Amino acid sequence: MANIIAIVGRPNVGKSTFFNRLIEKRQAIMDNVSGVTRDRHYGHGEWCGKFFTVIDTGGYVVGSDDIFEESIRDQVELAIEEASVLLFMVDADAGLTDLDKDFAHVLRRSKKPVFLVANKADTPQKAQMAGEFYALGLGEVYPISSQTGSGTGELLDEVVKDF
Ligand code: GDP
Ligand code: MG
Repeated sequence: MANIIAIVGRPNVGKSTFFNRLIEKRQAIMDNVSGVTRDRHYGHGEWCGKFFTVIDTGGYVVGSDDIFEESIRDQVELAIEEASVLLFMVDADAGLTDLDKDFAHVLRRSKKPVFLVANKADTPQKAQMAGEFYALGLGEVYPISSQTGSGTGELLDEVVKDF
């Protein structure tokens, strides 16, 4: 089975920033196929000799009354189906939100491995605060900073372990 990593989570947590860090720079202009793949971006990455495809989900319907319904139906469930591994990204700076809990509810039911990634943990203090995300019941919390790169190596070591 192909190694496909999907990055999911509410808007603004840093999914695209991390995606751009993962993929090779020359792919910065992503293949954005029309139709079913709308609003999702694909890239290719490598870690410790293991190759993978990454899906950046996003493009939430702005102004929708039910942002969660829209996002889950149109994007996250497709990504879950397609992915071999899910990176569920939350914002360590903003803390736990209701929308995070909605995502967690869906992800817990998926049969795919989920890595809970607390982004924006730019400092050791913020990384420590990411402990609150254990309340989501998704196991280990991986604090990272997509901006500084801190913690991303430890996360990727685990993610590619079964690739
Ligand atoms: P997305 O909506 O989940 O794709 O989030 P984006 O990647 O567009 O990022 C949203 C905002 O968070 C942007 O202003 C980013 O610069 C910022 N951001 C992303 N990663 C980090 C991080 O590790 N630390 C900090 N402080 N800001 C970040
Ligand atoms: Mg984005």
